[in-house]
Amino acid sequence: MDMQTSFLDRLFESGLLIDTGVDGLYGRSGQFEDVIAAFERLIDRFGGADGAEAMRFPPGMNRALFEKSGYMKSFPQLAGTVHSFCGSELDHMSLLQCMEVGEDWTKDQKATDIVLTPAACYPLYPTVAKRGNLPAKGGLFDLQSYCFRHEPSKDPARQQLFRMREYVCMGTEQHVTDFRQSWMDRGVEMMKQVGLDVTIDVANDPFFGRAGKMMVNNQRDQNLKFELLIPITSSANPTACMSFNYHQDSFGVKWGLNLEDGSVAHTACVGFGLERIALALFHHHGLDVKEWPDSVRKVLWG
Ligand code: ATP
Ligand code: ZN
Ligand code: MG
Repeated sequence: MDMQTSFLDRLFESGLLIDTGVDGLYGRSGQFEDVIAAFERLIDRFGGADGAEAMRFPPGMNRALFEKSGYMKSFPQLAGTVHSFCGSELDHMSLLQCMEVGEDWTKDQKATDIVLTPAACYPLYPTVAKRGNLPAKGGLFDLQSYCFRHEPSKDPARQQLFRMREYVCMGTEQHVTDFRQSWMDRGVEMMKQVGLDVTIDVANDPFFGRAGKMMVNNQRDQNLKFELLIPITSSANPTACMSFNYHQDSFGVKWGLNLEDGSVAHTACVGFGLERIALALFHHHGLDVKEWPDSVRKVLWG
């Protein structure tokens, strides 16, 4: 049995995660949720004075806007779409017949107007663009959403439905890169306060296919993505618990996000993987929260 399986098994045995029979799709206990809630309050304490505008979107987004985002060009392998039965009574009978005999009953399901949100910030850009030019101070937003990615795994830190807390900044290049740097510093400090050792490294997104290799190289060469890594299932390959992304003006151009003077906005986003942070805490301090160091408990629960 490898390490990953055993940490997942211990999480199931302790009840912190609840097995649904699907890899990467888990229920969470009250205790697990309480750790996430406490960590989100810590995020609020670090980010609260910045005056970000909070918005919460559901875990599904407008399919037309998802299509426009270009997600299917870059990450077709991760996307999840919502399909529904849209047929007649006759179609219904054949659907039930298919189920009865164990054939594929999903083949006539039709795509709805909704796809599962792949990252918390995706619904934001078109929403902000609709408002017109950004104010002189730029834009700063506070988001949290369940996100879907089709990447089933036995690694408890790689889930298919997980929560991402994000701050998104829109403004000049200097403004948004300063924002990103300040959250890298804050991220290190926050994790130190809860007793976790971290490293920060340059990273890339898993762009699909041969054309994707060029995107990966470009992203790394230009330092567009950094990750804050914490050992969870492997110390040789620590897990990304936060990411810090600079999109240059690509989302500004795509969505028509403009600054007060009409120039194209640059954007950056900072994401916290909430389940991963909770798992890092349980992995490092033990599965029983009562046994965690007093200093850590104090930071999280006062
Ligand atoms: P990884 O390299 O591990 O796949 P990522 O680069 O895909 O991570 P992002 O796309 O930057 O991650 O997402 C923002 C944050 O969401 C990550 O820093 C991570 O904490 C969290 N996250 C990403 N994918 C998952 C997942 N499958 N399960 C749980 N959390 C995730
Ligand atoms: Zn984002
Ligand atoms: Mg990934």
